[in-house]
Amino acid sequence: MGLTKGSADLGELRIRRKHENDLVVALAGNPNVGKSTVFNGLTGMHQHTGNWPGKTVANAQGYVQGSHRGYVLVDLPGTYSLLAHSAEEEVARDYLCFGAADRVVVVCDATCLERNLHLVLQILEARSDVLVAVNLMDEAKRKGITPDLALLQERLGIPVLGLVAQKKKSLAALPALLDTYVPPSSLAKVPPIHYPPPIEAALADLIPLLQAHTTERQSPRWLALKLLEGDTSLLGELQWQLGEEVLSSPTLVTALDTARERLKTEGFPPETLADTLATATTLAAETICKDVVCENASSHSKRDRWIDRLLTGKYTAYPLMLLLLLAVFWITIRFANIPSAFLSQCFEGLLEWLTRLLIHLQAPEWLMGLLIDGLLRVPLWVISVMLPPMAIFFPLFTFLEDVGYLPRIAYNLDRPFHACRACGKQSLTMCMGFGCNAAGVVGCRIIDSPRERMLAILTNSFVPCNGRFPALISLISIFLVGSGAFSGALAPLLLTLCILLGVLMTMAMTKLLAHTVLRGAPSSFALELPPFRRPQLGRLILRSLLDRTLFVLGRSVTVAIPAGLLIWLMTNLTIGEMSLLHHCADLLDPFARLFGMDGVILLAFVLGLPANEIILPIITTTYLCEGTLMECESLLEMQTLLSANGWTWATAVSVILFLLFHWPCSTTLLTVKKETGKWRWSLLAAVLPTVVGLLLCLLFTQSLRLLQQI
Ligand code: GDP
Repeated sequence: MGLTKGSADLGELRIRRKHENDLVVALAGNPNVGKSTVFNGLTGMHQHTGNWPGKTVANAQGYVQGSHRGYVLVDLPGTYSLLAHSAEEEVARDYLCFGAADRVVVVCDATCLERNLHLVLQILEARSDVLVAVNLMDEAKRKGITPDLALLQERLGIPVLGLVAQKKKSLAALPALLDTYVPPSSLAKVPPIHYPPPIEAALADLIPLLQAHTTERQSPRWLALKLLEGDTSLLGELQWQLGEEVLSSPTLVTALDTARERLKTEGFPPETLADTLATATTLAAETICKDVVCENASSHSKRDRWIDRLLTGKYTAYPLMLLLLLAVFWITIRFANIPSAFLSQCFEGLLEWLTRLLIHLQAPEWLMGLLIDGLLRVPLWVISVMLPPMAIFFPLFTFLEDVGYLPRIAYNLDRPFHACRACGKQSLTMCMGFGCNAAGVVGCRIIDSPRERMLAILTNSFVPCNGRFPALISLISIFLVGSGAFSGALAPLLLTLCILLGVLMTMAMTKLLAHTVLRGAPSSFALELPPFRRPQLGRLILRSLLDRTLFVLGRSVTVAIPAGLLIWLMTNLTIGEMSLLHHCADLLDPFARLFGMDGVILLAFVLGLPANEIILPIITTTYLCEGTLMECESLLEMQTLLSANGWTWATAVSVILFLLFHWPCSTTLLTVKKETGKWRWSLLAAVLPTVVGLLLCLLFTQSLRLLQQI
């Protein structure tokens, strides 16, 4: 889920070597080039991969064994250049230039090598222990692009390896290459970029003054460049590395002043120096690529451009987004019922068998109640109701993510979010929220401006996470969709409307916050639309089932067990004539009725704080415990149970509204505290949706009552 140590702490990342001679290898590269896929493939870990830039916001380290030593791999956040623009990029740059890595592997995308070479050249300038892994060779082939890797190796003067990161066999070559690689000393290295002669002359003057203060692999040429450039974001780190006395030594200061003065008179004033250096890098990358890459415009590129025009077009983008959402929900609802009923039947059989066994063993009644009703019934219910929709929804969601559709949604929603004075990237974190709000909150790290990040964090739970989907689907199917001819299409349509309401409310709340507590102008950002990629179906199903479905299910079951026990205890502890549960529900009842619900429902929301998944199970279990002796084997039986407890379609609407907008689960609240550093932001993140939910329920219930009176 990503609740790991943030990359902002990368400088303090504690490296865990297994043996003394293990080497630390940093995986660097542009976003979305397959770094995490390489990392996962080699280490067997499960970093989040997906076809969109910016998803690696948490760093990770893993271990891979070579033939005579081990390697600690560090997966860095993607960065386009060492001229860092965001905090994430700055951290990656500092780690690459000054961090603990013994080797750097720059992962490149074979389909756009030129852009990737910028970073390679910059890193190569800073250090000598660099290797290049040209990934996505299969994609390149499909697009008619053939990079000559032997020539690239010759031109760069460092080892270059072609990869298809999704194939384990292909990946095995990387540790093998690391095993045999002996990095040259930075002094022996040929400079990768040639600057105009006056700059080269200035460098030649400065390098001898810095040589004595650099380590074997650190490049005095790069340090000289940075000092000439006067990159203020690096000065602190340089001071720390070289020592303040070196930077302020009169010889260096005088040499720097003289060099700058001379450059100025020769047409390279300090204010344009950075641009000149960047242009030289671009030119070097361009020249190399001209020789190395052979490109035949393939029909794929044309087809991709056509699809892109359709998916992001002025008139087609929104209808297609809605249609896709509708299709995903239709497939989920249409096909989840059958396995759900099957699982439910199996579990009922299991519970019956267990009951008979306990009777046979003459177990006391309280033990049977505790085991069957307290411990087992709720978690089994959660599994049978949640597993099938999740096992369908998550692979579909991951498919859209891997194909590259998510950044297109962000692109389409950029303008409305901008109109709310927020950042377009918020739409990406909102999409992550559909999976899990806590993951969405962590994902907000991709937003650079602290104000906009806070807006995205506070409004993330306005879209329903997957934990709320099963309950939404069940209630819509039971109470709002009849069994008529169109019922099959109506349920997904209503669910889509719920999602739309969530998205609209996210925007409205963002706007409200941006005009009140978090005022400021929206920043601009460049979002790269990644190429469409064909997902690997086997990996997609496995990953979405293991990483998402089972993770969420595991969490719900773990929470459902103590919740089930608590409910059982509250039902069996009596004060006077009534159970404790009944007392609590009675206490909440008058308040809940104002909003179209009852005390049991509101109590379930309160008890469901650890995980939204267990709200509906708590409601049904509570009703069951209160004497209505029946089981919820199917939606029809759940309808009978809920109706017997006074539910109407209006109750269902109120519960759906409150399910959409109420406090986030405790994990999300904890994550908000972790990300913002203050409990008061968690409180606000809880209060905002709750107030909105209560207001909507109040409005709906009271209007309905008025209408019924007329
Ligand atoms: P990162 O942002 O650099 O960490 O990139 P990821 O590892 O998340 O990969 C981005 C996307 O590219 C994912 O959808 C991967 O499945 C896909 N991908 C990675 N390597 C390859 C490859 O060699 N071939 C193909 N076809 N897809 C790849």
